[in-house]
Amino acid sequence: MEQNKDYQILLYYCYAKIENPEEYREQHHLFCVENNIRGRIIISDEGLNGTVSGLKEDCEKYMAYIHADPRFAKTEFKIDAHETHAFTKIHVRYKPEIVHSSLRHLDPNVRTGKHLEPEEFKKLKDQEDVVILDVRSNYEHELGRFKNALTLDIDNFRDFPEKVKELEHLKNKKVLTYCTGGIKCEKASAFLLEQGFEDVYQLHGGIIKYGMEAGGEDFEGKCYVFDNRIAVDVNKVNPTIVSRCHICDTPSDRMVNCANPTCNIHVPICEKCGWELEGACSVDCKDNPEKRPYDGTGYYQKKTNGYNPYKGLQRKPNKEQIQ
Ligand SMILES: [Zn+2]
Ligand SMILES: [Zn+2]
Repeated sequence: MEQNKDYQILLYYCYAKIENPEEYREQHHLFCVENNIRGRIIISDEGLNGTVSGLKEDCEKYMAYIHADPRFAKTEFKIDAHETHAFTKIHVRYKPEIVHSSLRHLDPNVRTGKHLEPEEFKKLKDQEDVVILDVRSNYEHELGRFKNALTLDIDNFRDFPEKVKELEHLKNKKVLTYCTGGIKCEKASAFLLEQGFEDVYQLHGGIIKYGMEAGGEDFEGKCYVFDNRIAVDVNKVNPTIVSRCHICDTPSDRMVNCANPTCNIHVPICEKCGWELEGACSVDCKDNPEKRPYDGTGYYQKKTNGYNPYKGLQRKPNKEQIQ
């Protein structure tokens, strides 16, 4: 059955200096509200980063809005068609970094790993003396990763620099880094160069662009994403499942949030176990009095009571008024 795909999901980032990020944040937020763009956007002194959804024509307006600003003219968008919005709200936030990395001193516009286009990455990845390094966190690479990739035991990208100490023995190899959309690699590969790694490359546009342009070959499992879809298929050439049901250990890539709201652990649970435990990750969680009703998806909308898209749009008093 042909589904209507009137909506788009956009994934993008741009490292570029923003002089008055708080002020720009307000403008940007207003544009999103007025054009019914939803999602999560981070504005910082070092650039912008977002995943958003909207009607196709609204997404086109949004991309034109970003490209019209000379600072962000080079922004590349990964565009996916979708049947609905992939977010329930719009959040445009100021943060000190566009990805929390504890690597604020590194500017990818000055120095970063060489960008590889998906087809180049595909050719290079199986060569001798090449290490494929997944710079994402445990919950992401457990669900899917490149065949033969080296993964790191980290719960957050800010722990990446610490882990690099364990990679000393790879300093003379060709290191190819990858992440979801390419943004983490800008900093991760810059950091590797700073630490004395000599031959460092990064997959430009990340797993998402690799799926679109290189068929996703040799990406095993699914790619974790940061919107309502939770996980997407990437590999159209030789797909496999790498994750296992949290309860019975059979192969499964059904990501579920435990129905016990105080647990809420996000793990793969197969269809059968999902129904048996009513969406809970354990018998204890199933018996929790707060347990939410299971509808077979394991996805629970956060309470949106009192949500107001205009929140955060109030003008701050100007300096004269404060004095
Ligand atoms: Zn199971
Ligand atoms: Zn649980």
